[in-house]
Amino acid sequence: MDYYSSYITKLIEEFSHLPGIGSKNAQRLAFHILNMPEDQVKHFAKAIVDAKENVHYCSCCCTLTDKDICPICSSEKRDHSVIMVVETSRDLAAYERTNQYDGVYHVLQGCIDPMKGIGAADIRLKELIKRLEDDSVKEVIVATNLGVEGDATALYIRNLIKPLGIKVTRIASGVPVGGDLECIDEVTLLRALKGRIEQ
Ligand code: ZN
Repeated sequence: MDYYSSYITKLIEEFSHLPGIGSKNAQRLAFHILNMPEDQVKHFAKAIVDAKENVHYCSCCCTLTDKDICPICSSEKRDHSVIMVVETSRDLAAYERTNQYDGVYHVLQGCIDPMKGIGAADIRLKELIKRLEDDSVKEVIVATNLGVEGDATALYIRNLIKPLGIKVTRIASGVPVGGDLECIDEVTLLRALKGRIEQ
């Protein structure tokens, strides 16, 4: 039974599809929107649509960008012989905030997770292997999260890359097991990077 206008019910339903938003929070957000000035609501809706329409994957590293090739991939100041493999663009941002890494990235947009039905073909591995055909790549640093799925993904990548004769390293365990890279402080991230171990 509809307690509210069907427009409100629809809005609540849309919010409830977002991660971490339960039905109470969905209601709270929907009513917040209705109480906002109309201008602000229009800006908000436009920001969502604009982001979706303009942001896509970098054709080189698969991070989210509004360019064909992202600013990191197109920068001559970066060391293109070292590729750090991360799960998400948020992990990339975490390493960028340290200001100490001058290589480039490859963003898998996920990790292998059989429980969720995500296999090797579902993440951006093909694109990574394609990049390695360029023999200027000297090292691949695997910086997937340190947890069951991240480790399994790292092992898979190691087995894929090792036969190509390219050095494969894994970030050290300075990062708490199961921790999301984006939530970890910069000092710990750097320690994990500097202490990386050849696989
Ligand atoms: Zn890129």
